[in-house]
Order: sequence, then structure tokens, then C-alpha cells
Amino acid sequence: MFYDDVESLPRPQLEQLQLARLKDVVARAAASPFYRKAFQQTGVTPDSIRSLEDVRKLPLTTKADLRNHYPYGFLAKPKAEMVRLHASSGTTGSPTAIFYTREDLESWADLCARSFYGVGVRPEDVFQNIAGYGLFTGGLGIHYGAERLGCLTIPAGAGNTARQIKLIRDFQVTAIHIIPSYALYLGAWLVDHGLDPAELPWRIALIGAEPHTEEARQRIQELLQLKAYNSYGLSEMNGPGVAFECAHQCGMHVWEDAYLVEILTPDNHEPAPDGEVGELVLTSFARQGMPLIRYRTRDLTRIIPGDCPCGRTHRRIDRIKGRADDMLIIKGVNIYPMQIEQALLSMPEVAQNYVIELFREGYMDQLRVKVEIKNEFFVEDMRALTALQKRIASRLRDEILITPRVELAQHKSLPQSAGKAERVRDLREKDL
Ligand code: AMP
Ligand code: ZN
Repeated sequence: MFYDDVESLPRPQLEQLQLARLKDVVARAAASPFYRKAFQQTGVTPDSIRSLEDVRKLPLTTKADLRNHYPYGFLAKPKAEMVRLHASSGTTGSPTAIFYTREDLESWADLCARSFYGVGVRPEDVFQNIAGYGLFTGGLGIHYGAERLGCLTIPAGAGNTARQIKLIRDFQVTAIHIIPSYALYLGAWLVDHGLDPAELPWRIALIGAEPHTEEARQRIQELLQLKAYNSYGLSEMNGPGVAFECAHQCGMHVWEDAYLVEILTPDNHEPAPDGEVGELVLTSFARQGMPLIRYRTRDLTRIIPGDCPCGRTHRRIDRIKGRADDMLIIKGVNIYPMQIEQALLSMPEVAQNYVIELFREGYMDQLRVKVEIKNEFFVEDMRALTALQKRIASRLRDEILITPRVELAQHKSLPQSAGKAERVRDLREKDL
């Protein structure tokens, strides 16, 4: 029923496996300059780990640590054994380099294949990867996962929408991988070109690599007429294939045979109780070349309590609420961009694209939301437009507790990328 028997391993056995693998990774990581020093300073050895809770004896690893030991300070095997390099997208600062041995690439492909199988992708499927190939892990990572599963895999890359649709039609593509903001754009593109999505052969989309709301997923499903499944990963933990929704679409199973999950309170890094939102902290068990222990992802989520109807025993995390560094503080109120997306995309007049701008007026930080309006609502009647603008502002106020400026934009007038969307523009420095 599952791709791998380990997916339904009873918890006690799964945890036993995790404990053995945790000890193993501590032993292996000690070969890297960073962990050798960190373990020496704290006096930890594999023998210090007697239970999974003992993970807390191990130091946390941050993005700053990766940068400070750039490029090779985390390698636990000789550089000659590395066969691939990827880099994180650097949305929050300069990129970091991630290395893979051949064995790492194998285990990563298996995790991706397992994830795709879980949402119904089969070897008979034709799989089009609509993501940038290059340093971004969503290119090659997803690609080799689909090949591992046995799909005919098309490395379409990102962008050039007309060509994407041609490939989908010509080769009867049934499964795609696409970044959610580009999927929304693609949906609007089909409407503009008078194409009926129901006539396209696709049935499954894997969407991930950037935060998006349930509202965005619903829209993607409607616009593209397929099922869209959330895919979570980060370069530091391989890339995609860390946590994935199953067919039930109720949270993402973290592959706990490959990753140890912790949710820590943002302030003092204490374990957050199940169900409470905190920072996701991950330890990779499988990675040989560059094992990372207790890596602070900065991503905010929670463990979803209870069992999943699919029968997998690996715990689920909720949709990523945002990154700790994404939080905006405007007029003393904490705001996450995803709250804004949720409010906007719940309104039928709103099209698929928006941008959040921060600017300064006098000494005050202000928030401006530019939002594309569907053609049929973008009318010449000023009164109707002003009323719509007010409705959007008040819907946003309900969600974020302050009233932002709202600017209505014509369909397709805001910047659009086929890669990760840049939803927030900080213009504050410029206004000084
Ligand atoms: P990178 O390794 O640079 O490709 O980026 C990884 C980051 O992308 C993660 O730490 C998350 O912040 C974000 N990300 C990846 N997948 C998702 C997802 N399904 N939902 C929300 N954010 C995601
Ligand atoms: Zn499930």
C-alpha cells in the first residue's frame, strides 16, 4: 500500500530506529570541523544519547553557523566524496552551500519518490517539473525523485507558459511540480487564453518551496482542475522530500526515519507542546556528506496531534505559517504575509497576484497592499472601485488588526516570477 514499509512502522519501533540513527549521526558528524569543535565544547559523545529526549544535549545549528563555516566547514567526509552542490535560495541573506555524496543523492531520490507515491503518482505517470533547474533543489531533487519512481520525467524548468502547456498536451502530462505562485499565474493564463483546464491531462500537482495558504491551494485546484499537494523541504535537509502531504491533504508527514523533528518555542527554544506553533528544528539522519544536527529552519509550524487516516505513523506538521524572519511589525502589531494572503484570496474579486510593501511616512512604518483584481471587477465606475478597495481594507483589518493602504491593480500588472515569489518589498530605507 505504501512505497516503503517504514511509512507505517509502529511508533515504538520507529522511535527505536530514530534513537539508533541519532547516535549514528552524532558519531558521523563529529568528523566535521564544526561539530568536532561544538561537541568538544559541550562534551557530548554518541554515548550521551540514551533516549530521543537527549537530543537536547546537542547544540542547535543555525544558518549563521553555515555561513561562518562556508564553504567546507560542515563536511563530515572528504571533499572528494562529494558529487553535487546545491545552495539555498538566499531569500534571507547570502546563500549557503550544501553538499551531497552519491549515497546522499540516492537516499534523497528515495524520499522524494516515496512522497510522490503517497499522493498517487505512479510509474505510468508523465511528470513535468516546472521548477528552475540549477542551484535550487526543486529542480534536480524533484527530477531524480520522479525518475526513481519510474515516471517519464520532463525537465521543463520554470517559465515560458505557452511552452509548458504545449509539453503538457503533447506528452499527456499527468503530474506536475510547480511553485504555488506560478501555479496561480498559470491558472489565470489559461483563463486569458480561453483554455479549459478540465481538458488538460494533468491530475496531480505538487506545490511547495514557498509559503502559501489553504486559500491559494483551493484556487490552484479550481483554476487547474487537479489536486494540489503541499511539499516541504529545504536545501539544508536535502531539499524537497522532508515533509509531504498524503492523499488526505491534512498536514504534511515528516519522514521521521530520515529526520528528527522538534518544534521549539521561538523565545527560549524549549520544546513546544504538540499542537502549538513554534520553530521547526530538524536533524538529518541519512545525510552522509554534510549531516546537520538540530538545524533551526526558522520556519514556523506545529505538530498536528492525532493519527492520520492514511495509516502512516510519521507525524504531521501543519502548513508553514511563515518564517520567523518574515514577521512584519507595523504599528506594534505582528503580521505574517500569509495572513494577508489568506484574507485576499478569500475574496472572489481578487485575482491571483499581490505584493506587500512597507514604507515610511514621517517616522511611521506603513503597510501598503497592492492587489490584482479580476478583469470583470476592474470596472470604470470609480464608486464601485472605491467600495471594493474599502471592502478589501476592512477584510484585511479583520485579519491583521490594522488597516493597510490598499491599491487595486489591473490583472497581470504586478511583477510575476516563475520561481519563488517576492511577496514583500521593503521600501523603508528608500523613503528616509
Ligand atoms: P531553499 O532551501 O532555499 O529552497 O528554501 C527552503 C525554504 O523554503 C524553507 O525553509 C521554507 O521557508 C520554504 N518552503 C519550502 N517548502 C515550503 C512549503 N511547502 N510551504 C512553505 N514554505 C516552504
Ligand atoms: Zn496521511
